[in-house]
Amino acid sequence: MNHRADLHTHTKASDGTCTPRENVRLAKEAGLAAVAITDHDIVAGIAEAVEAGREWGVEVVPGVEISSSADGQDIHVLGYFIPYQSEAFQESLSELRKTRFERNRLMIERLQELGFAITLEDVYRRKQGADKNIGRPHIAEEMVERGYVASMQEAFDKYLGKGGLAYVNPPRISPQQAIDLIRQSGGVAVLAHPGLYGNDVLVRELIRYGLDGIEVWHPDNDEAAVDRYRKLADECGLIQTGGSDFHGWRGGEPYHAMLGSSTADHSAVVRLRQLAEQRQGTLSGD
Ligand code: AMP
Ligand code: ZN
Ligand code: FE
Ligand code: FE
Repeated sequence: MNHRADLHTHTKASDGTCTPRENVRLAKEAGLAAVAITDHDIVAGIAEAVEAGREWGVEVVPGVEISSSADGQDIHVLGYFIPYQSEAFQESLSELRKTRFERNRLMIERLQELGFAITLEDVYRRKQGADKNIGRPHIAEEMVERGYVASMQEAFDKYLGKGGLAYVNPPRISPQQAIDLIRQSGGVAVLAHPGLYGNDVLVRELIRYGLDGIEVWHPDNDEAAVDRYRKLADECGLIQTGGSDFHGWRGGEPYHAMLGSSTADHSAVVRLRQLAEQRQGTLSGD
């Protein structure tokens, strides 16, 4: 076992394709000490992963990736050691998924206006379970299967990505509200893939507001970004995290990146846990 931790992975509970148990198995095979489950706006996959982690001797960090937006730009905030068993916390995430559902509906409406015979029902049929936590990758998958585009990437480039023909982004909670939600629940707030935003003024603003950490290692942070955010983290005393953003397999390839391909040192997990314990102690009045 090495001392690495992949702190950003998705499962079937959102837009990944693997079960939580499979993510933990891949972490074990990669020799990782720890893996976090960070599904979009949902914590439904965590319990299964924790169980698998116990069986296989991999530390599982409970997490979530909250979708927020600032000036029309999606900003993702990771929450670690959040109270995933709390009904109140689950309920606040379920509120956030209502915006996601509305966004999906509007995007599919746009696709129909563009002449594609795709329906909300088709896309939602792709997903099992009572809580269909659908994301853009599911819409892209449906478009590929129907032959409307040749690849998931083409679906994003032409239609679903920012500025695409079917792109819609209704107002969401602000990144500041996402940070509040995470911290007030006793979790630790980390800015996901800062290299994607092209807006370090905002990154600094969110650090001042209350971020606890920043995702330094991520497939979408290039070398210059890694350098820049490491320095910024040092300067501001932030926890430096990293993760692959693994989303399972699509078209026989790891979607986004292979689990374990971007990681943080395990000491980041220790710091995340310490901060969460300190915060939870304060919350419960100990
Ligand atoms: P959603 O949460 O529904 O907005 O979808 C976000 C997910 O879509 C991300 O986690 C990525 O997996 C994927 N995604 C977003 N933008 C792109 C892009 N430009 N190209 C490929 N995949 C993307
Ligand atoms: Zn995703
Ligand atoms: Fe993200
Ligand atoms: Fe992600």
